[in-house]
Amino acid sequence: MKKKANEDAAYAARLKEYDRQQKASWIRNAALRRQYNALIADEKYKATNCRLCPHCNRVVQHMGGCASMVCGRDYHGGNDQSGCVQSFTWDQAKPYVATTDREAKEVMRDLHIPKNKLVVHENIK
Ligand SMILES: [Zn+2]
Repeated sequence: MKKKANEDAAYAARLKEYDRQQKASWIRNAALRRQYNALIADEKYKATNCRLCPHCNRVVQHMGGCASMVCGRDYHGGNDQSGCVQSFTWDQAKPYVATTDREAKEVMRDLHIPKNKLVVHENIK
């Protein structure tokens, strides 16, 4: 390819643009992969530490103290967030079902995996 690029300026320009777009794609994919991994970590955290309000299905977390809960705020007031403000106990809250690792792997399998390995051209302007 380099020999042809040396002989054909138009080909060289197209090759340079292809390399630029490929590098941009890999950078974008790496960012998406990081976001995806953060979402999976968040799912695991919620599955371990959170449940669902039995009235509105909002994700709730028990921060200690007695088991009495009010959806969307601390039981004794304060820390107001979105929620239906109905009372329940932690035992009445439904389990939070996270995206499982198996489902996550299915998603990963659906992602296009390039056949060619990443080639990084350093110091190209
Ligand atoms: Zn609620």
